[in-house]
Amino acid sequence: MRNSGIELWKKAKKLIPTGNQLLSKRSERFLPGLWPSYYKKAKGCEVWDLDDNHYYDFAQMGVGSCSLGYADEDVNRAVLKAVENGSMATLNSYEEVELAEKLLEIHPWAEMARFSRAGGEACAIAIRIARAASGKGKIAFCGYHGWHDWYISANLNEGKNLDEQLLPGLKPNGVIDALNGSTHPFRYNEIDDLKKIVSEVGNELGVIVMEPVRSNPPKDGFLEEVREIASSIGAVLIFDEVTSGFRMNYGGIHLKYGINPDMAIFGKALGNGFPISAIIGKREIMQAAESSFISSTFWTERVGFVAALATLEKMKEKDVQASLSSFGERINDGWNRLAAKHDLQINISGLPPLTHISFGLKSPVKAQTYYTQEMLKKGYLLGASVYSTFAYSNEIIDGFIDASDDIFGLIKKMDDEDRFDENLEGDVIETGFKRMN
Ligand code: PLP
Repeated sequence: MRNSGIELWKKAKKLIPTGNQLLSKRSERFLPGLWPSYYKKAKGCEVWDLDDNHYYDFAQMGVGSCSLGYADEDVNRAVLKAVENGSMATLNSYEEVELAEKLLEIHPWAEMARFSRAGGEACAIAIRIARAASGKGKIAFCGYHGWHDWYISANLNEGKNLDEQLLPGLKPNGVIDALNGSTHPFRYNEIDDLKKIVSEVGNELGVIVMEPVRSNPPKDGFLEEVREIASSIGAVLIFDEVTSGFRMNYGGIHLKYGINPDMAIFGKALGNGFPISAIIGKREIMQAAESSFISSTFWTERVGFVAALATLEKMKEKDVQASLSSFGERINDGWNRLAAKHDLQINISGLPPLTHISFGLKSPVKAQTYYTQEMLKKGYLLGASVYSTFAYSNEIIDGFIDASDDIFGLIKKMDDEDRFDENLEGDVIETGFKRMN
């Protein structure tokens, strides 16, 4: 099968440091040397590569940004109209105010909103506002929150603070040493980690930022205790809902747990693939933005607001989150059925709309690489995580599971007989972080 994307990716790595703009879309993270890498067309959950080869996307659906599906007709219609009427002007887009109202209506604890384009950028904005509001500079964090200096500075001391939060091996090169000691990691569901930070940093802790839920549900009382600690020391509690928002339920996942932060951040699914991110929060905190300087030309551009409004409308009308969960569960059930049939040890983790598979074998990374390699031949894009989409159907998922059947059998056999090396056509997938070109 011809695949021009493979050559183009090699060329890209000579022209673009790191090859592209997002680690999660690097070809080496899926299938080194064999991944189609580029697309010509994407519609629903289907993708066509540069040579018109057709795939179903069971990899990441635009890294979790396209919950409704690629090129969704309702969102596109609204966006095209906005483009025709001018997506930029000296005056502001009125849809910005509508989107603020809509997000605040969904999250009644919040009273004001700001907008930007990317998730990490929104996190940096939220951190700036929270520091300004609390008047204190130190941050306790759990999970991934983007590429900005405040976050990567966590690795300035021993270089390992991000190992358990993001990826092992991230170097903070280019981040000024003056930030050393300003950002402190705690592990999810380990309240003692946070208590230790509080006892060490004490009064200087101004911000606690975390994903309310990522892979595992919170232990009983965990979110409540975090909330209590933040309030008791006068720190701003930020829930980063860039990935968790609008996936399990209509709004931030914190709504399901009844714990309100002081600020929350949304991105990814909010605009169904069009760039838009949002920061919402309590009035007295958000107003601190007026005492700082947080401003950018393209945060005012119209398409993002319009796409978000159309996306939210469709999500509500079609109860999209219920479908995302039920499709995710169907994938999990299918994997579990095949694993039992072939006596294969697999581990499934994550929320159903963002499910993750790993192999409990002697060679788990080789097994994953082989699974992706063979599914690609059958017309499926696959990684270790599947972001569910409203564009799936039960038939499409059943087709995906059927296609996995004989491959699960082969994986079991190859692992037992140590025979992956002779069946892998390229290198194994990259997992941690190393030099990229
Ligand atoms: N915060 C969380 C929780 C995320 O999952 C991500 C991206 O995966 C980000 C922030 C960064 O968002 P972006 O890649 O849009 O900058």
